[in-house]
Amino acid sequence: MIYFFIEDTNEKVKIGRAKDIERRRKNLQTGNPRKLLLLGWIRTDDDVRIEQEIHRHFHVRRANGEWFDLEAVDVLPILSHFGVDGFVGTTDDAFQVIGHDRDGIAEYMGVWYWGDLEFEECCPFCGSFCGMHYQEASSMYHCINCDELTSFEFLSPRHEDN
Ligand SMILES: [Zn+2]
Repeated sequence: MIYFFIEDTNEKVKIGRAKDIERRRKNLQTGNPRKLLLLGWIRTDDDVRIEQEIHRHFHVRRANGEWFDLEAVDVLPILSHFGVDGFVGTTDDAFQVIGHDRDGIAEYMGVWYWGDLEFEECCPFCGSFCGMHYQEASSMYHCINCDELTSFEFLSPRHEDN
């Protein structure tokens, strides 16, 4: 797997490969005063070649080693390119209400901390760029990667009692 970690303060992105991404993140975090967050990752059996290609793609923005001067949005097209095998690092609280708009409709944290992504393009449960698609048979939205099936009913605004 190919991972993309970002430092929360100075927008440097590390692009590398690991079998266990969370373990690698924890190891890299040790001794680093800046918090490392998972921007996204790619599922692949060909990680040596893919990693080389991505490093080459961003080579003019290489800071040192596997660190690149990139912003979160620079990485998005790469992840999206891999479709069902491209993932954004999801937050556990994608459906946490962060406010209400003028019509009283709840606004949510969203799939991705760094930008707005619609669930049609990116599954809010597993982060896969397969997205969720409407399934006629069940009248629900389905993710072909994690198999989550939902009506998103819990996202509809609750009716006020008058
Ligand atoms: Zn999913």
